[in-house]
Amino acid sequence: MIYRTYGKTEKQISAIGFGGMRFPDPEQIEKNAELVLYAHAKEITYFDTAPGYCKDKSEEIIGTALRQMTPGSFTVSTKCSSPDGKELRTSLERSLERLGVDCIDFFNIWCIKSAEDWESRKQGGAVEALLKARDEGLVRHIACSTHMMRDEATAMLDEEVFEGVTLGYNAVNFPFREQVVADAARHRMGIITMNPLNGGLIPQNAERFDFIRSEDDPDVVHAALRFILSNPAITAALVGFSSKEEIDQAVRVAETFTPLPAQRHAEIQDQIRDQFDGFCTGCGYCLPCPQGLQIPKLMDAYNQRILRGPAAEHITDNLKWLWGVGTETAADCIGCGQCEKACTQHLPIIERLGEIVEAGREVAAKTK
Ligand code: SF4
Ligand code: SF4
Repeated sequence: MIYRTYGKTEKQISAIGFGGMRFPDPEQIEKNAELVLYAHAKEITYFDTAPGYCKDKSEEIIGTALRQMTPGSFTVSTKCSSPDGKELRTSLERSLERLGVDCIDFFNIWCIKSAEDWESRKQGGAVEALLKARDEGLVRHIACSTHMMRDEATAMLDEEVFEGVTLGYNAVNFPFREQVVADAARHRMGIITMNPLNGGLIPQNAERFDFIRSEDDPDVVHAALRFILSNPAITAALVGFSSKEEIDQAVRVAETFTPLPAQRHAEIQDQIRDQFDGFCTGCGYCLPCPQGLQIPKLMDAYNQRILRGPAAEHITDNLKWLWGVGTETAADCIGCGQCEKACTQHLPIIERLGEIVEAGREVAAKTK
């Protein structure tokens, strides 16, 4: 196993982390706890969970396993998404109880989607409650998980509230995240990456993603994890494990790890552009929009149509769950064309916004 220091803290964690969001049959607490213990025996020491994961059983499963581990041999991370300080405190106390620990090593202000959302976490008292909990010794380090992009993420990280950040980063979406990773590294934060296999898309489409594989990668999963670990700014890649085989596969990457040569990173970026014709790279040159549209987020949702197929839900789910943006915002476009002139990929942004509006209507009609 490779161990890396989490940002400015002196905490060493395993470069492969256990993401507790994909337990099979979550009601089987003991059986799933065995999976966690198996990972620990394979020298994984970072365990990430959250209230609500796996029918709200994930914390209980992880806690059952942690109670069987030697204190000091593991690091645990959990989260809360409420902007309300009192609710965060209640959630934290419940997490402590479920996890069976006196102190949470890393507590994340969970899923900050926008600058407004970040403001609400401060105004609502969540940040203050967390700082107080740290002073009281209930939390060791404060982190956040975010899907924000570029400048809005930069502004938040510049406030230096957090010691670490958890963000979605993988061989497909990394152009969207490069700046956030660089900003977090500039602040010497721990950087935990989630979604390393792009929600299973990479292994499910192994042939299509074969271009990320180097000669010495046995398969695309290996290549995808190696890609992440090759970025020295990244502390750990979280994998949502469902089986011992998946744990073995990920641990093998850490055991045999050699970093990718620097030019491969750029090559893969170029190949993404070639392989996925019309793919938005999240560069942000189309901004600002006079109507305030968050064009890269909307175009990322359209990327899902390119990657996953034409179903309207691929667009609406991405906007709802990843970005917290409604499809109806795309209807605010007045067709000025400013963004299309600036787009580095020459994308038909206006036409795509129309498709996004349509996708939203289609999904809404189905749920009526
Ligand atoms: S064309 Fe639409 S999305 Fe593009 S800049 Fe103009 S209003 Fe914004
Ligand atoms: S300029 Fe084009 S490629 Fe870059 S973020 Fe905007 S839409 Fe995407």
